[in-house]
Amino acid sequence: MTEINKMNPGEMVIDKQYKLQERSKAEEIIRKAMDLAREQIPNGKVATYIPELGKMDPHQLGIVINPLKGDKLCAGDYDVRFTMQSVCKVIMLIVALEICGRRKVFAKVGMEPSGEAFDSLVELDVSDSKPYNPLINSGGLALCGLLLPELSFQDILRFTRNICSDPDAEMNEAAYDSEMKNCSRNRSIAYLLESKGIITTDVEDTLRFYTKMCSMSTTAESLSNLGAILANDGVCGDTGKRFMSSRTARIAKTLMLTCGMYDGSGSFAIKVGIPTKSGVGGGLLSVSDKRAGIGVFGPALDTQGNSIAGCKLLREISNDLRLNLFYDPEWNKETEEENELIRSIRESHVI
Ligand code: GLN
Repeated sequence: MTEINKMNPGEMVIDKQYKLQERSKAEEIIRKAMDLAREQIPNGKVATYIPELGKMDPHQLGIVINPLKGDKLCAGDYDVRFTMQSVCKVIMLIVALEICGRRKVFAKVGMEPSGEAFDSLVELDVSDSKPYNPLINSGGLALCGLLLPELSFQDILRFTRNICSDPDAEMNEAAYDSEMKNCSRNRSIAYLLESKGIITTDVEDTLRFYTKMCSMSTTAESLSNLGAILANDGVCGDTGKRFMSSRTARIAKTLMLTCGMYDGSGSFAIKVGIPTKSGVGGGLLSVSDKRAGIGVFGPALDTQGNSIAGCKLLREISNDLRLNLFYDPEWNKETEEENELIRSIRESHVI
């Protein structure tokens, strides 16, 4: 791994199939993006509904880009530990698809964006439908009901350590206790799911299982390792080990694109175009398919519960590093032209 400032200029980043970026140029792009992203931190807030998360320093920001070919690029607080929170729903989904299969999983949860907050109960009450998707709280709890009879939290933790190449990942006890004392909404969701026959396991056990997974510790670097495996269709590029079928990887990536940022998923897809899953611990797990895994950490959140500086950082680098799913060489130019147009209209007092 190479820290920015210690990289050899001229080394290539991302993938030879794409127009080559010189590593020194990539460093410069990331450095500028970090500066712009940091400006957003005062507009965000750390999560306080889980009191332990409220203790985090909002000024932290870090990123690791883990290309399928070449060394990692990392900057800022890339090795700081934080809790996965909703990012773990990608791991729950992978494990559920691998162990239970697609049919059982999608009998419990849907595949559609919710357009609601991550901890919403609305859709569960007004219809007899299942949770909209597995990447919101209701969906994660439904998956936990499916997984609980199959494996223990220790099994999930072991899998997480392996897939993230992070032997130090563990459950953060303080975050777990803090969330368990303040989880009325999740408890309500879980009982509602039981009333609809979606959770058939013991509700309190299911809630504890879910909250333990949310409390697993991680780093931006660990998330970039998981992202790289997803980008590589389920196979670790370094060891050749397959962690999931390519079908599972594809389902996870697609749901990350459409549902990974809760009710901010659509605008994030337009502005950034990289399948991403967020967590209220400030983590972002991103996958630039066939190119790179990306992990970001920035605990100041926007109103939707997504890392405010992390999103800005990804937005700034997505096009310049060609990580966007729908890369458009004209994108920045168009934005500049649009800004210019708006400026000139304003100046001529038309608006
Ligand atoms: N543990 C958190 C919760 O259930 C996770 C939510 C999130 O990261 N958006 O509320």
